[in-house]
Amino acid sequence: MTQVLPGATIGVLGSGQLGRMFAIAARRMGYRVHTFSPDDDTPTGQVADWETTASYDDLDAIRKFAQSVNVVTFEFENIPTPTVERAAEYVAVRPGGHVLYHTQHRLREKTFLSGAGFPVVPYRAVHSLEELNAALVELGAPAVLKTAGFGYDGKGQAKIHSPAEAATAWTALGTNEAVLEAFVDFQSEASVVAARSVEGHLADYGVIGNSHRNHILDVSVAPADLPVEVGREAVRIARAVLEALDVVGVLCVEFFVTRDGQLLINELAPRPHNSGHLTFDANVTSQFEQQLRAICGLPLGSTELLRPAAMANLLGDLWTAGEPNWSAACSHPDVKLHLYGKEQARPGRKMGHLTALATDPHLAVEAALSARRALTER
Ligand code: AMP
Repeated sequence: MTQVLPGATIGVLGSGQLGRMFAIAARRMGYRVHTFSPDDDTPTGQVADWETTASYDDLDAIRKFAQSVNVVTFEFENIPTPTVERAAEYVAVRPGGHVLYHTQHRLREKTFLSGAGFPVVPYRAVHSLEELNAALVELGAPAVLKTAGFGYDGKGQAKIHSPAEAATAWTALGTNEAVLEAFVDFQSEASVVAARSVEGHLADYGVIGNSHRNHILDVSVAPADLPVEVGREAVRIARAVLEALDVVGVLCVEFFVTRDGQLLINELAPRPHNSGHLTFDANVTSQFEQQLRAICGLPLGSTELLRPAAMANLLGDLWTAGEPNWSAACSHPDVKLHLYGKEQARPGRKMGHLTALATDPHLAVEAALSARRALTER
């Protein structure tokens, strides 16, 4: 396999913060970056060498983009299949289109995972109100109804507390293809970010503990506070998922940990993940550099955690009373500030994050939360 070496150009489909941090890692190693998305002055475009602004359906623009780069990756999985196929006519796309095909659609993802013997949340495919009612009888209430495609951060989902709410939830979702999941009364949430090289070598970042607020990731901590054997099993499952999907690149497996210590896969992200942002500051090789190494056919780097770390997301809500007090957050010497260059601070929008390093994970969480509070203390 020919390696893509420093000096070459990496094409990134998508232009958000994941692409931005990927581009920072790539430029640090002497690569050039070309991003493609429908927007301009984007988080990725601001640090890339080139930014193409065109629709993902503009296959001529995709051809030109693919012809201008040495390898294509993506930072956002909801890229239409014909777009990926067109790019793949000219240049390697990593991870391949089959990985996107399975992971951009909840039903396909769950069918694949359960067919391969991985533990998933009990679910039923739902195409009508009748099927929803039948699924509610089988799975019981409460349950969570989710659109099959194009959902993230709790968008396109509704909790159904009792069968009486089914009709309203079905109408509100406004789709004809959905998944009903049993509601998991979990003890905690966790994720494993792992990478697989072109030769099939694997590397993982161990288990990261996650807490969500309003369905959006709020705080991550490494290492996660889980029994050793549960952590080992999560890592084993994640590595097996990368192998089963024949991933080249980074993939994150998100888990629910049930009260009796069982692991259930919630979802997969075929790219660097929000819960792995702390690897930028806390690990020898960040998830972004690892993605770069994997897609370029380079050896993977060490994933060693240098110090326990925590990450706190900064959502647009923090701007409600004006610009946050950046200086106050920077007065914590072990806290790193990351901002994504987004102009508009809307509630729920991911604008940046803080990473705190400490001597133990609990202190790291406390430091990250304290620095975040300082942003809005006047
Ligand atoms: P998702 O976008 O599907 O990852 O959901 C976002 C968050 O909503 C998850 O991380 C959980 O905190 C919560 N959630 C989603 N599905 C379920 C479920 N079946 N049971 C309990 N909580 C859920």
